[in-house]
Amino acid sequence: MRKPSEVKVVIIGGGIVGTSLAYELAKYQLEAVLIEKEAELSFGVSKSNSGIVHTGFQDDPSSLKAQLAVRGNQLYREMAKLLDFPFIPTGELVVAFPGEREQIEHIRENGERLGIPRLEIVEGAWIREHEPNLSTEIECALLGPTAAVINPYEVIYAMAENAASNGVTINCSNEVTALERESDCWAVRTSESEYKAHYVINAAGLSADTISQMAGIPAPRIIPWKGEEFILDRHADRLTQSIIFPVPQKETKGILVIPTVDGNTMIGPTAEEIDDKDDITTSEAGKKKVLRSIQRIVPCVREDQIIASFSGLRPAIAENEFYIREERDGFVNIVGIKSPGLTAAPAIAEYVVQMLAKKMKLSPRKGYIATRSAIPRFRHLSSDERNRLIREDPGYGEVVCRCELVTKSEIREAIKRGARTLDGVKFRTRSQMGRCHGAFCTMKIMEIMAEELGVTYDQITKRGRGSELVMESHELKAL
Ligand SMILES: Cc1cc2nc3c(=O)[nH]c(=O)nc-3n(C[C@H](O)[C@H](O)[C@H](O)COP(=O)(O)OP(=O)(O)OC[C@H]3O[C@@H](n4cnc5c(N)ncnc54)[C@H](O)[C@@H]3O)c2cc1C
Repeated sequence: MRKPSEVKVVIIGGGIVGTSLAYELAKYQLEAVLIEKEAELSFGVSKSNSGIVHTGFQDDPSSLKAQLAVRGNQLYREMAKLLDFPFIPTGELVVAFPGEREQIEHIRENGERLGIPRLEIVEGAWIREHEPNLSTEIECALLGPTAAVINPYEVIYAMAENAASNGVTINCSNEVTALERESDCWAVRTSESEYKAHYVINAAGLSADTISQMAGIPAPRIIPWKGEEFILDRHADRLTQSIIFPVPQKETKGILVIPTVDGNTMIGPTAEEIDDKDDITTSEAGKKKVLRSIQRIVPCVREDQIIASFSGLRPAIAENEFYIREERDGFVNIVGIKSPGLTAAPAIAEYVVQMLAKKMKLSPRKGYIATRSAIPRFRHLSSDERNRLIREDPGYGEVVCRCELVTKSEIREAIKRGARTLDGVKFRTRSQMGRCHGAFCTMKIMEIMAEELGVTYDQITKRGRGSELVMESHELKAL
């Protein structure tokens, strides 16, 4: 058997929380490894959410999750510049119908206690001028200008690329199967390898309770809360400029209108407690519920504008709070990271690293690389920029995905940066995300993957083992 690798820190889980930790730990002179069971990072809860960087004012100001969300919001602004990912400062409006003004005043007070800047209650005339598609019955709204939208997977890949360039090892297709305490370290066994680590950080999302049990440490039980989301056609007019919230409910922030980074509008999510951690189906009932709720706020939304849907499961626990603690012997549990987990993730990482700093000396990494550049997006470039790129690399002149105008060189670059599945290519480039959902470009992308990775077509998967598209190897010629 291969000798176990000795490292200082093992992070379990390559979602937004685990990858934020890898990014944060990369700033220090230590050996860290991130282990993810799926074929790529961001294939868990972190790929299926609303993509909102919240202001933080929806949660109880004395809670850890509200404080980490406010800090996370600040950190994203700085990170977006360093790591070159889209961060669109849309702002948000919590709209109040007659009788609801007091509730938004209360939310504003909470926000002010948290130090959230520039909160303001705007009246009907302001709303009609800035958001003409909103119902005329809305009396006023709380404006939170610091809210923004991101593409969660783009952020995850940006952080992971930066962490890797600073020496953090990222191991996907590695499922943690056993954790055992030895005299001075943790033995972490995975489906592929074994590690000896001084610290283990459990950021396994929906499986965080199972991982904790593996280590013999009791942790709160994860209760999946399903959320269904619906995406409207980009060719339909952008419905709103800001993210629109109703007055929040006890368990959720309600059903929202979300202008996405990619120019579509998304509506949702629903909130339903379920038993099955694998149930990511969407339903007709969910769609009707979302439409009913949104049409009250934006009456012009139509069912036929919906072009796609997905659902995600919030890893909730009974206590409405994040559960982040060092349990014993250097085992850190991060459990119950439901919304605003995406927002808070960079701050969760900062908080956990501060926790570790009390236990070990953390010296800044020598030669730390602070920045990372995104793959050029041909679609967004001017003619001059496009011509320059094509002169440098003719692959930028070969359009592979017509719907989203993605070129061969963008696909190649995604593979060079770690994409190993069709979804990995999709999340990094937007190919296969247009109206034809990949009907035109999938074969061409497979051809490039086979060429770049030196694999046969039957080894190429959509999202990891079990999702192969071709059953046995064929000599496929370019279409
Ligand atoms: C519908 C919906 C909308 C949301 N909207 C927002 C929003 O707009 N803003 C916001 O702030 N938050 C939002 N959230 C919450 C946010 O998505 C989550 O809090 C966040 O993604 C949790 O990230 P994570 O890294 O903890 O989990 P995950 O992304 O699930 O990462 C955990 C990883 O651990 C891996 N793993 C599990 N077991 C093992 C094992 N044995 N070995 C190795 N790896 C393992 C999994 O494969 C997974 O990749 C939303 C959630 C949902 C469901």
